[in-house]
Amino acid sequence: MKNISVIGAGTMGNGIAHVFAMKNYKVNLIDISQASLDKALATIEKNLNRMVAKEKITESDKNATLTNITTYTEMKEGVSNADLVVEAATENVDLKLKIFKQMDDNAPADAILATNTSSISITKIASVTSRPDKVIGMHFMNPVPIMKLVEVIRGYATSDTVCDTIMKLSSDIGKVPTEVNDYPGFIANRILMPMINEAIYSLYEGVAGVEEIDTVMKLGMAHPMGPLQLADFIGLDVCLSIMRVLYDGFGNPKYAPCPLLVNMVTAGELGRKSGVGFYDYSAGGKDWILSPKFKK
Ligand code: NAD
Repeated sequence: MKNISVIGAGTMGNGIAHVFAMKNYKVNLIDISQASLDKALATIEKNLNRMVAKEKITESDKNATLTNITTYTEMKEGVSNADLVVEAATENVDLKLKIFKQMDDNAPADAILATNTSSISITKIASVTSRPDKVIGMHFMNPVPIMKLVEVIRGYATSDTVCDTIMKLSSDIGKVPTEVNDYPGFIANRILMPMINEAIYSLYEGVAGVEEIDTVMKLGMAHPMGPLQLADFIGLDVCLSIMRVLYDGFGNPKYAPCPLLVNMVTAGELGRKSGVGFYDYSAGGKDWILSPKFKK
């Protein structure tokens, strides 16, 4: 493996490009938006500068990493020499199916096609390609340069060889890969999202307030963040959409999204990205307080 193409230069794509480029892979970073590509390069440089300042890497490591990344607004050119393509575009089924058809048409026949999807079936994505044995999930965590885990998801048709290659590659870039099978939510979100949903139910049913729920989980379970604060950071729209994937995928009422979560998303209170969720982030930076809605 030498040439890695990354599709989508948003939050996750820039981090994925960063880690591969730092391990001396040649990275083609592809996005339909030039503004996203510019922002991604600026973010990668800023993160590398921080690593230089902390003496984790040298100035010359930083420059070599940046030199390893080339940007493209056209997929065709960007994937033509890829050994591996990692798709990290917007979470939308129809978009991903379209992108995978294009990847399949334009990447070399032996290239592995991976997706960073949080919730879409790998088997479904693989089914639109002519190489379902070479399609796999590579679920990185945010922020990618810092978080160690890669959830490696085997689709129904993924071959053992492809799975072994991706497990080894993930270790080679300094991550800890964990192999899981392709069922709704995989492992990370199948366990995390029902916990968050249950925290929202506890609030909705008046069992405790926002800060009380978060404090129990932080101090009682040693979680670095409470579930409601974490939901705000992930985005309440993302949490709702993953709960719906679990609910539809298993047909089990235990995954029904809490009506309070549905209401908050409908009202546009999506957490940190919209300025308010369970907490109020409108002051910006690290200054956030309980949302007035949840004051007692
Ligand atoms: P994002 O919105 O920050 O970035 C998505 C990027 O995809 C944008 O720059 C957009 O311009 C680009 N894009 C859209 N259509 C494209 C196309 N046809 N070709 C190329 N680029 C295209 O999204 P994100 O948070 O980085 O999420 C990306 C993927 O990673 C999603 O599948 C998401 O579920 C998954 N994921 C996200 C997180 C997270 O915490 N943000 C964590 C794990 C996995």
